[in-house]
Amino acid sequence: MGPPGAGKGTQGELLAQKLEIPRFSTGDILRQAVREGTSMGVEAARFMHAGELVPDDVILGIIGEALEQEESEGGFLLDGFPRTVAQAEGLASLLESMGFELDAIVNLIVPAEEILKRLSTRGRKDDAAETISRRLAVYEEQTRPVLEWYAGTDVRMLSVEGVGAIEAIQAHILERLGP
Ligand code: ADP
Repeated sequence: MGPPGAGKGTQGELLAQKLEIPRFSTGDILRQAVREGTSMGVEAARFMHAGELVPDDVILGIIGEALEQEESEGGFLLDGFPRTVAQAEGLASLLESMGFELDAIVNLIVPAEEILKRLSTRGRKDDAAETISRRLAVYEEQTRPVLEWYAGTDVRMLSVEGVGAIEAIQAHILERLGP
């Protein structure tokens, strides 16, 4: 977890490689649906371009499908999800019904000035100035409460500084995750 631009995708990819598990990024899956012009993509694009979250039922559908795949049997990494308390609740019931448990949450901590700098130079379609500020506000309003929600559960929360060299951040994540 972490705000937009925190490096979830970069760190998530490295970590999934290292752990030899699939990584499911809701953002990547949605962008692919948008590119392919599927009905989900057409619906999602409106929200993404406005910096809003895609509706929870769409997202939970994506995750439900991902977890049912055979490659998920040995574990998986979720990137950019859950982003609302409703998604966290939906995930908890999916996991329970499938006999999975969350090992840990990696929360990347990045200061606001650094986030703004990164997003304004990244150049993705939803990185236009007004969209960025809306995404940051949405993070504060809807996603930060998810951290508090997990604090009330017994899932391990690993907060890791997300500033510095990519490899150094990855090393910290691995160290905190432990064997
Ligand atoms: P970033 O973390 O930089 O915002 P993502 O690729 O994770 O990038 O997300 C891009 C956009 O995709 C979000 O702004 C949102 O519109 C949509 N999205 C991704 N994941 C979710 C999710 N779990 N719930 C709702 N919308 C999502």
